Amino acid sequence: MEIPALQKVVEGIYEHYLSRGCPCLFPRFRKLVTFNFEDYGMVPTACLESHLIIDLALRGPKKVYRATSEPTSDQGESTWLHECSRCGSMIAEHYADYSINMFREYLDFVELKAADIGAAVALPLPVINGVFGFEPDPKQKAALKKSFHWGANEAEFVTYMTAMAPCHR
Ligand SMILES: [Zn+2]
Repeated sequence: MEIPALQKVVEGIYEHYLSRGCPCLFPRFRKLVTFNFEDYGMVPTACLESHLIIDLALRGPKKVYRATSEPTSDQGESTWLHECSRCGSMIAEHYADYSINMFREYLDFVELKAADIGAAVALPLPVINGVFGFEPDPKQKAALKKSFHWGANEAEFVTYMTAMAPCHR
């Protein structure tokens, strides 16, 4: 999918989270934005949907996370602490550059202050565009596909990301 169209899809999902509270309350959002290639022992790779929704939550006109610390740096990675302005959860943002056109950013939920209302994570998590960056070898790619399945269509992605827990439907 072209990036402007994907951006619109991601904005729709983000609006759903705001209409029900905040993104923190959705385990599937948390799974998407915590994507970190290092967990898979891979070459530097990022997930486009993850980057787009992090950007909305941290820097968009309706951002809910605000930085509460100056960045700290460690081996080329910068880390900021953020607080959710709606539920008070504490989130760490990790950012690193790998080349002129390859960076990655992921979040880490340090302290959750509210109960989930979104549906539980079911793997693989379907995304439309998915991973980009350095090309993983086929074995790494196969391992990653067990957690993140890219090539989903819009309906699959939106339905998955906006699903509510049974008692909140
Ligand atoms: Zn929150």
